[in-house]
Amino acid sequence: MRKKIVAGNWKMNKNLAETESLLSGLKENVGGISGAEIIVAPTFTNLSKTTQELKSTNIKVAAQNMHQAENGAFTGEISADMLKSIDVEIVILGHSERRAYFGETDQLLAEKVNTALKHNMTVIFCFGEELQDRKSNGHFSVVENQLKNGLFHIDASAWKNIVLAYEPVWAIGTGETASPDQAQEMHAFIRATIGKAFNEEIADEVSILYGGSVKPNNAKEIFAKPDVDGGLIGGASLDAESFGTIAKAI
Ligand code: 13P
Repeated sequence: MRKKIVAGNWKMNKNLAETESLLSGLKENVGGISGAEIIVAPTFTNLSKTTQELKSTNIKVAAQNMHQAENGAFTGEISADMLKSIDVEIVILGHSERRAYFGETDQLLAEKVNTALKHNMTVIFCFGEELQDRKSNGHFSVVENQLKNGLFHIDASAWKNIVLAYEPVWAIGTGETASPDQAQEMHAFIRATIGKAFNEEIADEVSILYGGSVKPNNAKEIFAKPDVDGGLIGGASLDAESFGTIAKAI
């Protein structure tokens, strides 16, 4: 059985006091949920506090990004070793905002993936097409290329450390979501692509999350699709009650 996962990407939101308050809300609203693995990704400055606060709970902690180098003269960057040293074992890589605003390419992401896997971290690998790709019917090939160029160089044995997050760029922060059928169609395509490039067992085992305006009122319908194994939630993860409702929809 594939793992169900509901993850919250807080992006550049929540200062320390706000983080503390959201964490206590989360303990109430998602503490004890057993139907899905729950993950939250606060900003770097609040990671350490978050891992301490969530230590004896069911909620896991992820970083939103990481540098590919081990250490050195990379002002402003954070390494895998630094994350691991504060008990962060999961990292989101390839988010469309990193790709669009910080110039992260498939090649760079391939390096980041290698570093994360070398440190035995779990990678939530994000990808997804832009609106013009979908309009020109290029969405399948865009997604296939992002996967091939950023991820498919890994060893078959590394897939146990990979979670995929399909996030169509046109649905992120826009209030517009892929319809449950559109999400299912793409998730099935992704699974088939992995099956061809690796094998059926790997394709069957990997969790594929949907991200892009998942809200309390649409989560159930999207999560009900057979190839959707959960969600990567942006805006709605900033409110404990909304995130709780989404997590319980799985
Ligand atoms: P929204 O849920 O705000 O659309 O963001 C989705 C996302 O980018 C999660 O990583």
